[in-house]
Amino acid sequence: RAKANGRGQAVEYAPELDQERQRVAEMEGRLKGAIKSGAIEAVFQPLVSATTGAVTGLEALARWRTATGNISPEVFIPLAERCGLIDALGVHMLRTSIEHAKNWPDLALSVNVSPVQLCNPEFAAEVISVLQELDFNPKRLTLEITEGVLMTNPDQARRSIDQLKRVGIKFALDDFGCGYASIGALRQFGFDRMKIDRSLVSALDEGANGADVLRATISLATALQIPVTAEGIENSRQAAILREAGCDQLQGYLMGRPMSAHDISSRLEEESAA
Ligand code: C2E
Ligand code: MG
Ligand code: MG
Ligand code: MG
Repeated sequence: RAKANGRGQAVEYAPELDQERQRVAEMEGRLKGAIKSGAIEAVFQPLVSATTGAVTGLEALARWRTATGNISPEVFIPLAERCGLIDALGVHMLRTSIEHAKNWPDLALSVNVSPVQLCNPEFAAEVISVLQELDFNPKRLTLEITEGVLMTNPDQARRSIDQLKRVGIKFALDDFGCGYASIGALRQFGFDRMKIDRSLVSALDEGANGADVLRATISLATALQIPVTAEGIENSRQAAILREAGCDQLQGYLMGRPMSAHDISSRLEEESAA
């Protein structure tokens, strides 16, 4: 089967395109099954106080382990967004992370939300009903969203955010500094927290003016009275610079990797024993 292009020339049949399409379709089927059967799991990464070093919260991150290896959320989240599975995946992650978080009553819980979910007019009501059903205090919950949503559908994003903030849920602007979100957007959408992207943190190791950029960004947020979390901290030099620059919360492999619920419980026990 040869197709013609716009200028009427025949282009060659490309079997690898069909193969690619088939591979994506097969992966969609597997993802759908994985969501249904509960095979997508939550791991939790500590959010640590910059002043005391204590764990004050946890970020839930989705994991898909298959017989042939682990698939990264950087792969399956965009896939779920494209094929209409993100709402089901998002609700599953919210439920399962809340169920675990009930074992850690003193900690805040952060859950990532896709811009696609936030633009669904039913999203806010669904979150509220899950919280009621599981009897979880909305004040403990932060939803992390990336700046994409502020561009694509600002009006619906706003409505969802407002509705959820009214019941006490907080919002964090995720991955700040690697895209287009402005400091103004932080205030405009009522964000409660800014999360500095890992790329800005790792730039600290490359010398140049990385530290100045970070200090300026953090002081702008602080001027708006928006607290700042730094993500992706891997060494103590980065941690010292970020603490000094005014971040009140630190996150990264240095403070703790994403862990199973079981490992988080052990870590918390160790801390309270110490
Ligand atoms: P994110 O929300 O910005 O999460 C932080 C990512 O950085 C996580 O990757 C985490 O494992 C990784 N990370 C944390 N500390 C360090 C560090 O010190 N060094 C390095 N190299 N990496 C670190 P992960 O778990 O692969 O997740 C990637 C992205 O996938 C997340 O970025 C988030 O955007 C998305 N994602 C994960 N789970 C969910 C989910 O349940 N729902 C939605 N919508 N998105 C999710
Ligand atoms: Mg996040
Ligand atoms: Mg992030
Ligand atoms: Mg990210």
